[in-house]
Amino acid sequence: MTDTPVPNPRPSVDQDQFLTILSREEALARFEAALFPRAVPRELRALADTLGCALAEDVVAPIDVPPFDRSNVDGFAVRSADLAAAGEAAPVRLVLNDETIACGTAPTRPVLSGTATPIATGGPLPRGADAVVMVEHTQPAGDRAIEVRRATSPGQFVSYAGSDIARGEALLRAGTVIGSREIGMLAACGIAGVQVARRPRVAILSTGDELVQPGRPLRPAAIYDTNGAIVTAAIAENGGDAAFLGAIADDEAELEAAMRNALAESDMLVLSGGTSKGAGDVSHRIIARLGEPGIIAHGVALKPGKPLCLAVCDGKPVVILPGFPTSAMFTFHDMIVPVLRRMAGLPPRSDAKVNAKVPVRIASELGRTEFVMVSLVEGVGGLIAYPTGKGSGAITSFAQADGFLKIDALADQMPAGSDAEVTLFTPHVRVPDLVIVGSHCTGLDLVTAPLARAGLAVRSIAVGSLGGLAAAKRGECDLAPIHLFDDKTETYNTPYLADGLELVPGWRRMQGIVFRKGDRRFEGLSAQAAVRAALADPACIMVNRNQGAGTRILIDRLLAGARPDGYWNQPRSHNAVAAAVAQQRADWGMTIAPVADASGLGFIPLAEEHYDFALVTARKRRPAVQAFLDALASDESRAALEKAGFRPAAPDGGPLAA
Ligand code: AMP
Ligand code: MG
Repeated sequence: MTDTPVPNPRPSVDQDQFLTILSREEALARFEAALFPRAVPRELRALADTLGCALAEDVVAPIDVPPFDRSNVDGFAVRSADLAAAGEAAPVRLVLNDETIACGTAPTRPVLSGTATPIATGGPLPRGADAVVMVEHTQPAGDRAIEVRRATSPGQFVSYAGSDIARGEALLRAGTVIGSREIGMLAACGIAGVQVARRPRVAILSTGDELVQPGRPLRPAAIYDTNGAIVTAAIAENGGDAAFLGAIADDEAELEAAMRNALAESDMLVLSGGTSKGAGDVSHRIIARLGEPGIIAHGVALKPGKPLCLAVCDGKPVVILPGFPTSAMFTFHDMIVPVLRRMAGLPPRSDAKVNAKVPVRIASELGRTEFVMVSLVEGVGGLIAYPTGKGSGAITSFAQADGFLKIDALADQMPAGSDAEVTLFTPHVRVPDLVIVGSHCTGLDLVTAPLARAGLAVRSIAVGSLGGLAAAKRGECDLAPIHLFDDKTETYNTPYLADGLELVPGWRRMQGIVFRKGDRRFEGLSAQAAVRAALADPACIMVNRNQGAGTRILIDRLLAGARPDGYWNQPRSHNAVAAAVAQQRADWGMTIAPVADASGLGFIPLAEEHYDFALVTARKRRPAVQAFLDALASDESRAALEKAGFRPAAPDGGPLAA
């Protein structure tokens, strides 16, 4: 690992930042050196108010628990030696002493040889007794005696004083997070309050003219503030007392006032956005005025996350996370959580790391620590971590991701089959019961809905048809949804199956031309005529699809070699095509009917494609797979699919619904 700053290869004159890019390790080391050691502020809290707090000091047990030798059952306190030879053929008679030991009653009479004292569960053992016989194992023998027909060993059904917790034993260590179990241990020792670490107060600010808070209407070109909510929650998850103070416009004076107010009230300030190179990016300039020593690192060799800015202002950490939500989360979990937890008196988060195998090669940029979003599934020999990132701007990849892995700055790739440590976004990850990897379709959500309602965790990872097939061949998923046309046989999907896979018919979806309703160039035409009309109008702009998409093959056939304006705009999903047309960035494109309908667009049908499932035969018997197959064949899903504009295939591959 490089310890020396790596100079930016191309510093520009108007760029007053990123002149020195630090390695991840160096940036973290400098940040921690500027903050630690420091005392963790503590406070005394009543036991009932300590849930989730970190203990600020070791707690030593002040008493034995239980405080005396105690009976575990209802029965009779005895001397075991009296009963050593007792058995079915050799019953022993014991005379009862003249007292009954209830819970909370101190005994007054000793148990002498040949006697027994009635005792309740939880009662203290009297002097002389060394064992308890269960009442069920005795018989009354006259007025004040019992008969025992079982041998009894010393200590039987007795909990000795201090056997749960011994006086003077370290009960709980500093840094332990207090849960119900710990509260129980403290209560058992009679401790009514403990010193806990005071949660650091952390202020959170989002920055950007474009940000709108959830719940308000979205203006054109605006986006919802994602970081505010996610960073606030992640701080609370890691021991901080989080206070979200809203989103501030990119205005230097306004932002400086907000930052000063926030710092005055808190122990730490976390901002997001406004740190990359851009006219509106001012927060790092303000930090320089807020206190000593100021900026520690601005520009870290991370991918994504290079604009991360770490500062300390008069002892308080000030962090500017990158604006892109995924970059913000990677850098927050990797570099800020360790610092926050130390300030909160918490140990490093061991419960948020798991080991997993990476099934595919991941290319990586040399010289930067790379974060890769992953989704966990159960493989044959343990957990498998699937890369699911779609670029640092994709908040959606959070939905599929359980966490992320890191590729070292000195590595240019992570080879397929590598073991990796995955940092979980939240520690309570549940490995899914059903894993679907391949091409995504909104129809799929309709089929899996009843499974989710039945308590099954379904994970659907969108990697395209070919990626899904590869995963299915490696046995890493249960089902791979595919829609692959084979030119030679002019059929869908079946020719692509391999040994160990079988086809489960799914549904048909109509592909066609989308346009804005009322556009005279397209209204009422056939698909072929619509494309001719589009090509005839030089002002008409299309939106294409990515190479390799089934839809792209249809578009290229229709265009027959033409390259109209917009051809190189090649988004990767049906929804992106509809959005481009609806928002007037393009006038026509090709998508599936349900997506066109959902966007309120006009639609000219062209051809039906087959969306089927490659089922991994070896996993067919799994209950979740059976549940999926049942759901797929159910009247409920078929009706839902039809309502959404799909045509379900008959389960046996027979004729379709009308
Ligand atoms: P910036 O660093 O401010 O240039 O932001 C980089 C990108 O992240 C831009 O696309 C911003 O719109 C986006 N972004 C910044 N802050 C947020 C936020 N709080 N929530 C969602 N996206 C954001
Ligand atoms: Mg911004």
